[in-house]
Amino acid sequence: MTLTLIVGLLLNAIILPLAAKRVWFLYRLISHGQPAPDRLENVTKRTAGAIRDQLREVVGQGRLLKWSVPGIAHAFVMYAFLILASVYLEAYGVLLSRNPEWAIPVIGHWDVIGFGQDLIGVLCLVGLATFTIIRLRNDPAKIGRKSRFKGSHLGGAWLTLFMIFNVIWTMFLFRGAASAAGNFPYGKGAFASYGLGTIFDGLSHDALEVVEHVGLLLHIGVMLVFLLLVLHSKHLHIFVAPLNVMFKRPDAAANGENPSSVALGKVKPMMNDGKPVTLDDVDDLDEDATLGIGSINDFSWKGVLDFASCTECGRCQSQCPAWNTEKPLSPKMLIMNLRDHAFAAAPYNLASEEKRGSLDPAIVAEAERPLVGETEGVAWHPDGGAVIDTDVLWSCTNCGACVNQCPVDIEHVDHITDMRRYQVLVESNFPSELNGLFRGLENNGNPWNMSPRGRMDWAKGLPFDVKVVGETIESLDEVEWLFWVGCAGAYEDRAKKTTRAVAELLDLAGVSFGVLGNGETCTGDSARRAGNEFVFQGLAQQNIETLKDAKAKQVVSTCPHCMNTLKNEYRDLGIELEVIHHTQLLNRLVREGKLTPVADGEGAHQRKITYHDPCFLGRHNQVYTPPRELLQIMPGAEVTEMERSGERSFCCGAGGARMWMEETIGERINVNRTNEAVATGADQIAVGCPFCRVMLADGLTEAQDTGSARAEVEVLDVAQMLLASVKGEVATKLKPGEGADPGAVKAKKAEEQELDDPAKVGAAAKASADSGGSSLFDEAPAEAPAAKAEPAGGSLFDEAPAEAPAAKAEPESGGSLFDQGGSLFDTPAEKPAEKPAEKPAEKPAPAEAKAEPASGGSLFDQGGSLFDAVPAEEAPAEKKPEPAEAKAEPAAEKPAPAAEKPAPAEAAPAADLSGSLFDIPAASEPTPAPAAPAAEEPAAEEEPAAEEEPVAEEKKPAAPATPPASSSGEKNEPRTDVDISGSGSLFDL
Ligand code: SF4
Ligand code: SF4
Repeated sequence: MTLTLIVGLLLNAIILPLAAKRVWFLYRLISHGQPAPDRLENVTKRTAGAIRDQLREVVGQGRLLKWSVPGIAHAFVMYAFLILASVYLEAYGVLLSRNPEWAIPVIGHWDVIGFGQDLIGVLCLVGLATFTIIRLRNDPAKIGRKSRFKGSHLGGAWLTLFMIFNVIWTMFLFRGAASAAGNFPYGKGAFASYGLGTIFDGLSHDALEVVEHVGLLLHIGVMLVFLLLVLHSKHLHIFVAPLNVMFKRPDAAANGENPSSVALGKVKPMMNDGKPVTLDDVDDLDEDATLGIGSINDFSWKGVLDFASCTECGRCQSQCPAWNTEKPLSPKMLIMNLRDHAFAAAPYNLASEEKRGSLDPAIVAEAERPLVGETEGVAWHPDGGAVIDTDVLWSCTNCGACVNQCPVDIEHVDHITDMRRYQVLVESNFPSELNGLFRGLENNGNPWNMSPRGRMDWAKGLPFDVKVVGETIESLDEVEWLFWVGCAGAYEDRAKKTTRAVAELLDLAGVSFGVLGNGETCTGDSARRAGNEFVFQGLAQQNIETLKDAKAKQVVSTCPHCMNTLKNEYRDLGIELEVIHHTQLLNRLVREGKLTPVADGEGAHQRKITYHDPCFLGRHNQVYTPPRELLQIMPGAEVTEMERSGERSFCCGAGGARMWMEETIGERINVNRTNEAVATGADQIAVGCPFCRVMLADGLTEAQDTGSARAEVEVLDVAQMLLASVKGEVATKLKPGEGADPGAVKAKKAEEQELDDPAKVGAAAKASADSGGSSLFDEAPAEAPAAKAEPAGGSLFDEAPAEAPAAKAEPESGGSLFDQGGSLFDTPAEKPAEKPAEKPAEKPAPAEAKAEPASGGSLFDQGGSLFDAVPAEEAPAEKKPEPAEAKAEPAAEKPAPAAEKPAPAEAAPAADLSGSLFDIPAASEPTPAPAAPAAEEPAAEEEPAAEEEPVAEEKKPAAPATPPASSSGEKNEPRTDVDISGSGSLFDL
């Protein structure tokens, strides 16, 4: 026993100091991060909540169990670590006391303890076997990118499984021999140890004690070696993941009653020295203050803790729309690359100035790698150059699938946004297409760069007056709801139909509502997600002032992006609103009997519908049920789910400001999603977001062009479907089966080719024609779009085709959102660029990127501001942009990308991937000649007869109170691991 003690102590004396050294290094590395006082307060000020998080996520394995099989296997292994600590207590007791019969005081002889120890040991082996099978089935060597382990440290993972196995078998060797030798404190309750002890029957007592001592030393030795391995590998998460959960974002933690509360919804404010940076205090910032994240040292300690916590499980990667469409972004690899860089550069970053000179040149080189930029080798796992590839950074759609899936609460979207902020605000290095977005927001308060005075065009021809604050009503005290129309709802043709449908439904239900009309401006979602924090804050300040003046309290929005920003992000900037999505309000109205779908007739024709969950409605705001319930109560509707739905829905590709960027790498996300929707056999693809609608409609057009989708399939907002159902009118132009004639597809294609000719049509008109599907709701302009003629006769939902943005663009007089004179953020405009220049052909950019800036057009120019109340002036018609024909040419050669999205009007010149913040053309920049004036729009004013048709009184109303069982059986429930019915319901207002 003495020899055993000496060997045991020697093992501890060698390994424990090494482990302690590593722990000290990890502590220094993590605490070297920027301050994050909010994360500490989050624990000290809500201790009960922090404990609840630990119980739910760590002890209860709540997030891991979303994936049942690997979740259960992980629970077995994790509980083995906890429970088998008691066996190590016994082992050290035997070692140090030199008494083979030593037992834990008081409870050490309870059979139930021995049973529990043996049971979890056996279950741990079951867990290890399960992990082995999972890893073999998901071997990246066989299935490539489809494997969630692609890019993970596979050798380390196998070694870890092997070491855990060693912990378990040495435990049973030690206990089995002790049992056989009569030294074991437990009886037959420790069933496995007792059973194994019988194997040693026949050995002498001395021999059994030798085996017991060998087992004891092996058990302790394996644990010590494993401890070192854990501290140097991804298995570090064993120790740091509970801390990461504890220090989760305050708003996510405050939502503790929601099991899905993670760093979604609002994006993290831009921080400097632990405090949020606002537009108002920009001038007071220190000269060395950093905006966003430009180096590994700019991450807060919570960010570094995130990196250290990653388990390399790849759940995030498996759900990421970018990764699943062959783009270089994998959220897992992003975190792993940041972690590897943080660790490799730590000797330099943690060293004093004097010591840095004597460091290995490789360490110095690692520390000097740019955080974002051009990389060498594989972009998603570079072996040189920048740590994060530019394409990786800008591929993110902010869909939140990674954050939602991560079992250890890593905040990918916040990190991506922070890195984008630095690229935009400091480096002025971002995709050139974003120039159009920023310019539209800065000059006209909307991404389409349309006239701010055209925000009420959507209401033309409605059979009732829409109340406008400041015009027909003084404040929102006079109505129940503020209807937040949003930029898409006001300017994008397809979204305008949703706006009109919601307005009609509210009117039919007798719900009073008002709008802000031309007083509304963009919420700034796209600007913020693109990293332009100050454009976002400028827009937010303007909106908040307007909302306060209008006495806004209850808001309904058709755009989940607006909803998310108003509800979750404006709170930090000074206004608390109750904001809901239109499907939530409509659902309530149906339940209250204020809207009643007609049970038979045209509106009740049989059709199959599938619903696409918008990321900013579902994952970001937990609203899954209300839109589904609305679809299910529509007579004739058979609702079917896509394979990826609910919490695991697949993005449409438009979030994170991707709506305004070209997508040139891999498969287009919207095409991938549309194909999935079409594969359900649905006649209608229901959406609840204007961005989703554009993306899926574009994808559908492509699928119909290639013959992979039927001509009658169409993309519609839930509100349009409900309106048709309530009015008892057919919701589709072509009923199921009517579109079988391939000629219909060809005719449509020919029509679109006509419309796609950039010589004939502006971008907005193309977007309108690109409506994907031949719905009554998505009528393409019948006349040449350039003429802006209203389709004669008009259908139920027809309205004026969009005016070309160019025509609407009203340049300000040199105004800029950020007029501040010389700024802290002034950086040389030449900076952007090496990489983008290499790929000009890949990304056809909108014309703004190359438009010559005239005086005063910069984001930082002096002069008038977006927030100047003075309305914009029309561009002088004679001031033509330079070589118009030359500009149009590239778009003509490749019309498809231009048609995909409602891009700004000018045709694209050669692509410039490194747009600069300073490239934003002058507000006084000449624009193409204005399109037809208002006089060309008389038809739009005419009331479409169908719109006036009241709900048919004689038709039998369907009972709204109890949604009928869906006819598609089990697929009616979204495929999600959370109890959707318990979250995001209609009444969660
Ligand atoms: S937010 Fe979506 S697109 Fe971005 S990294 Fe996460 S999963 Fe991928
Ligand atoms: S970031 Fe989270 S989900 Fe992704 S691999 Fe790491 S632990 Fe898993």
